[in-house]
Amino acid sequence: MQNCLECGEKIIGRSDKKFCNDGCRNAFNNKNNKDSSNLMRNINNKLRKNHRILSEQKFVDGKAKTTRSKLTTEGIDFEFFTSLKIYKNGAEYRFVYDIGYKFLEEDWILLVRKE
Ligand SMILES: [Zn+2]
Repeated sequence: MQNCLECGEKIIGRSDKKFCNDGCRNAFNNKNNKDSSNLMRNINNKLRKNHRILSEQKFVDGKAKTTRSKLTTEGIDFEFFTSLKIYKNGAEYRFVYDIGYKFLEEDWILLVRKE
């Protein structure tokens, strides 16, 4: 005997059924989709905000130098980036879409913008 994943009622009938009816199955699936779309929306918002902050730095020839504390004050969240690129010389850049950054000594950060 199995219990419905949505309402917890005992399911009568085939043993491979997970829900007592279509209503319970739909309710369960909708809730799960909503949770994952909330999570994705929050992460997308953070990425968008990070990208906006990075793109507002003063770039000259596709490069900019700033500090970790300035970006933090402006609201960046360093946990969220879209890709990690490690070059042959060991330099590690985190990219937020087209803008990458590398932590330098002390508080400095080097930004590079892909053409
Ligand atoms: Zn049910």
